[in-house]
Order: sequence, then C-alpha cells, then structure tokens
Amino acid sequence: MEAIGHPTFVTAAQETDWDYKRASYGRLSTRHLGVEAGLGTLGLEVNILTPEFGPRIYLTGILTELELEPDERITEQVCIGESCSRCLHACPADAVQHFGIDKRACAGEAQEYGFMTMLQYMERVIDAPAVERAAMLKKRDMYGFWQGLLRVVGSFGDCPRCLAVCPVGNDYHLHLVDHQKVIPERTPAKLALGKRWKADRLEGKPVAGLSPWNERWVGPEGYKGMVAKQLAAFKRKTPE
Ligand code: SF4
Ligand code: SF4
Repeated sequence: MEAIGHPTFVTAAQETDWDYKRASYGRLSTRHLGVEAGLGTLGLEVNILTPEFGPRIYLTGILTELELEPDERITEQVCIGESCSRCLHACPADAVQHFGIDKRACAGEAQEYGFMTMLQYMERVIDAPAVERAAMLKKRDMYGFWQGLLRVVGSFGDCPRCLAVCPVGNDYHLHLVDHQKVIPERTPAKLALGKRWKADRLEGKPVAGLSPWNERWVGPEGYKGMVAKQLAAFKRKTPE
C-alpha cells in the first residue's frame, strides 16, 4: 500500500496501555475490529469465532490512509451458543460466562507467568527475609517469568482449552475432533449451568453479554445453523 502512496502501518496487537485498569488492555480491540471487518462474531467465551477456523486465530490491525470498501459484517451468530457450551464445560477456571468472561479467573490459567503475577512475586521477594530471598530467586517461577518475557510462553495465551474444544471451523474437524470429543473437565454443575443459560435465553430473560450494545458483536440474528451447514459442505468436499 505504501508503494502506491498510502502511509500504512501494522498495529502492535498485544500492546497494553497501563492506564487502562492495570492489565492487558489496548486502545483497539482486534476482536471487535475483526467483527466489523466481517471475519466472524464473538462466541460464548467472547473469543472471535471465524467460520473457517473457529477461535483458533490471532488478529492484528493495519492502519492505512488508503480508503477501502469494507466487507459486510456477519450478522448471524457464528457461535452455536448455549446448546453447545463446550467452552464452558472445558474451562478449568470457570471463567466462561454467558457471552462474557471473568478475566481475572481466566488470567490464572492463561497468563500463569503474566506481568501482574511477576510484579506480585517480586514484591514478595523484596519483602522476604534476606535468608529466603536467594531461594525464591531460584524457584521455578523465575524460570517461568524469564520464559514469558523472552518467548511469551506462559505470559499470554497459556490455556488452550476453550480454543481446542470449539467445534466451529473446518480445522476442528480435520485435526481436533478425535482428540477433543471427550471433555474431561465437564462436570454435572457445568452441564446444568449451560442448560440454565439455554433456558434463560429461550425465555427471553436479560443476559448481560447479549445487551443491545454487545449483541452487535455476538450476532444480532442469533444462531441459524452456520456450523452445521459448513460441516456438511466440508464433508462433501473431503472424502473420508
Ligand atoms: S483461556 Fe482457559 S481459562 Fe481462559 S476462558 Fe479459555 S478455557 Fe477458560
Ligand atoms: S465451544 Fe460452542 S459455545 Fe463455545 S464458543 Fe465454540 S461454538 Fe460457541
């Protein structure tokens, strides 16, 4: 784009503005940009779900002065919703809410060696008696922080469960279905919660994650069988 005269740059997808709630928040939500760009819609666990790859994608943004025609937004829900609830069943932290997420609970699994954990640990090291400090600095946690800083491993996206079990996307049927059919984390309580959410929605009860403001990104038309249709088309194209 620059070669044809339009100043353009790629945004840093994981940049954090520390003034926003002291955690990993930036000025642009690439998930929401992805919805506006017609790539997908937000799922029960509020990852963006694309019809092709479900939630198993990373997004970034490109800022440009070139004026482009936007693609159409997907207005039906890509997420199967409450009758699926596989992400709710698989989440080890009980962080999945009804088209929402408990970020703090999720961070315990997904950012095991994240920035806040590192700061809190270092505060404990500073406050510890001198005789304990050397041992604390040699603990496995320090290796985790080093690896997180160096390679992002452990400091970001460390829990794969809601991504792995989501049946949206042809990649799920190609690579994951046999391994992810059974969800070991599923409990009677989680099953009951998913059923309750389904009943609440059918009865039209207010759902925070489906407020008029949020609905735009979840898919205001609701789930209309996109995943089933896509799977049938995929099976026709892909012989056993
Ligand atoms: S990343 Fe892990 S902890 Fe976070 S919502 Fe997904 S399954 Fe739950
Ligand atoms: S696992 Fe099911 S409920 Fe969760 S995001 Fe994927 S399709 Fe939606």
